[in-house]
Amino acid sequence: MLPFFNFAFSCSYCGLHQYHLLRTLNCTTAHACTRVHLLALSFSSRYKWSIEAILMDLNKISLKVGTTSSTAVDPLLVLGKITKSNGMWFHVDAAYAGSACICPEYRHYIDGIEEADSYNMNAHKWFLTNFDCSALWVKECSDSVTLNKPRVPKKQSKAPSTLAQSLKLWMVLRLYGLENLQSYIRNHIELAKHFEELVSQDPRFQVVAPRKFSLVCFCLLPPHNNEDCANKLNHDLLDAVNSTGKLFISHTVLSGKYTLRFAVGAPLTEERHVNAAWKVLQGKASVLLQSL
Ligand SMILES: *Cc1c(COP(=O)(O)O)cnc(C)c1O
Repeated sequence: MLPFFNFAFSCSYCGLHQYHLLRTLNCTTAHACTRVHLLALSFSSRYKWSIEAILMDLNKISLKVGTTSSTAVDPLLVLGKITKSNGMWFHVDAAYAGSACICPEYRHYIDGIEEADSYNMNAHKWFLTNFDCSALWVKECSDSVTLNKPRVPKKQSKAPSTLAQSLKLWMVLRLYGLENLQSYIRNHIELAKHFEELVSQDPRFQVVAPRKFSLVCFCLLPPHNNEDCANKLNHDLLDAVNSTGKLFISHTVLSGKYTLRFAVGAPLTEERHVNAAWKVLQGKASVLLQSL
């Protein structure tokens, strides 16, 4: 059995190098290299065959609604049709962003879900339910569907959450109700939007990938656009900010670019916390830029 669809894996499986394919598709901007843009681009370009060839060699595909790295969204409608016409198992992984889809204005991110064979969202990520609680829906639970714990190598300490701990989720649903849950999600997204605005108002910074939910991917621009020192600069900024103990940010790498991630997800976060976090980031950025 082949593993679930993964862009890098699929490229290598077909003897393609992912960077080669990215270049072929002319994805030069940072966010255009997230998988969603890559796939979307591929379908509007003459390189359509490359992606189709990759897909058809696999017998199941896991499309992401909200990738872990940048919360990019795969085009379910387009890819779902291809998977179906090739008899593939079509899984939708909305571990994080599935929560946002309880709001009608974000529901369109799962358009095309009707074709899916299975779908999951993790209530323990952004749905007020204590770790762990991962909800998996399967269209037809036949004998061929077995819910085994994934085999995780021992050295990987992260605990996989495969047990549906429904009582906790039921309590959250009863306690909050739909409207409160929706406003909880909306509030986080508004706070992230606010942070995104703060970042875009400061010319020293850049928003790296389009913000869809409550995560903002951004970076500090190096002086004179010197790309060589950009990664180190942002790595140092992350260290400096986190060592204050006032906030904690993480990072990812998008198109080879060290990218900072600011995520709003705690129930007690308010606008004043976001503003304070931004002040810390600006302050540390000034110190770093002066020391160059
Ligand atoms: C977090 C995440 C997972 C894994 O979630 P667990 O908490 O380990 O169950 C899977 N897919 C995506 C897209 C995620 O963001």
